Amino acid sequence: MDKYDKQEQLSSRYKPPLSKRRGSRAASDSLLDENNHLKASIEALIDSARYNQQTQEKFYALELYFLEANSYELLLRRILTDLKRQLKLTQVELFLLDPQQETQQLINEIYGKLNYSNLYYTDSISAIKAIYGGNIQLILSNTQSDIAKLGPGMSQSVALLPLRRGNHIIGSLHLGSRDQQRFHAGLGGDFLLHLGTIISVCIESSINQERYKHLSLVDMLTRAKNRRFFFQALATEIARSQRSKKPLACLFIDIDHFKVVNDTHGHLTGDRALRSVADTIAPLLRQSDVLARFGGEEFTVLLPNCDLSHAEEIAERIRDKIAHTSITNDNNLGFQLTVSIGVSYWRDGKQAFDDSEAIQNHLISQADKGVYCAKEDGRNCVRVVED
Ligand code: GH3
Ligand code: MG
Ligand code: MG
Repeated sequence: MDKYDKQEQLSSRYKPPLSKRRGSRAASDSLLDENNHLKASIEALIDSARYNQQTQEKFYALELYFLEANSYELLLRRILTDLKRQLKLTQVELFLLDPQQETQQLINEIYGKLNYSNLYYTDSISAIKAIYGGNIQLILSNTQSDIAKLGPGMSQSVALLPLRRGNHIIGSLHLGSRDQQRFHAGLGGDFLLHLGTIISVCIESSINQERYKHLSLVDMLTRAKNRRFFFQALATEIARSQRSKKPLACLFIDIDHFKVVNDTHGHLTGDRALRSVADTIAPLLRQSDVLARFGGEEFTVLLPNCDLSHAEEIAERIRDKIAHTSITNDNNLGFQLTVSIGVSYWRDGKQAFDDSEAIQNHLISQADKGVYCAKEDGRNCVRVVED
């Protein structure tokens, strides 16, 4: 029982004279009013606390969802497609600052182009400053001028959320809602600010992780994939071919008389020649093919969903292109290289093997035998050794 209830009880037991009673009735009514008012306020406070707690729980779950994304690709998908559904938004747009297009290059190399119409890379902070008008801080608004900062859509209110790491702006996340009252000036933006911090951390750390992963799988001299990546890709592609019943081909490419190149032009020119060979091969391949430096002056190419005759054609194109590509030595004198190529091939059902390791061994040893045969036949040629 609170003090107002007590007063109410006392006042009902004691009966003062009529004139006084009238005055006290008024006082008691006003106390009752006050009491009801207080009760309503407390209920409203409890409702708002409950609402805040639910919102907080929803945001915590969302933040965890982003923190658990273990690759840049997955993180982007969660931000650019899932966030919209989870927060019941009409639009989500992400701007990322990428000064030397380094992130885009890295991501393209790893995943190929990630096509999102609501992802924008910008190489200058001024593009982000232009969105916020100088002072880069959270904007919650339902004015037409702020809504217009999003691409065309049905949004009636927007949250423009700067993404920061320390003192640096790394991007900007834009949320649009069809509800005009969802975002407006004067609304507390604490949950969104916290979400922005988490998303910033996730973006930065996933890019760093991709960079380290990439470094460990790429050959630094030629920028082709390294041997480790090749074996990982080989296992993946064999499994894919087993499921899809599509063929898988493999090329082994060995530079002819490369020792002579080093001996004649020096090691630095030799290194440049290795880079040139990788650069010559790469444009002749599809996005899904894998070019790797197997070691020394040997490269491998994995050709998923490629039958034998097509693989031979590609090998021939590579051989021809390399033979016609000029490399300059330190004295600016041009010379050409030639390569010997072995082609191997596997298709589920056509050739039966016990397990994927046996398929792997077959692809490697047949391609290796092909190179050996090409060397025997005078080099600068393509050979397939059938079982
Ligand atoms: P073949 O036609 O029989 O393949 O002859 P080859 O001279 O190409 O083969 P060999 O295996 O005798 O020599 C390979 C040479 O490749 C020797 C080695 O010094 C050179 N090499 C391997 N890795 C590198 C590298 O990273 N840079 C440079 N410049 N040379 C390398
Ligand atoms: Mg060799
Ligand atoms: Mg060689």
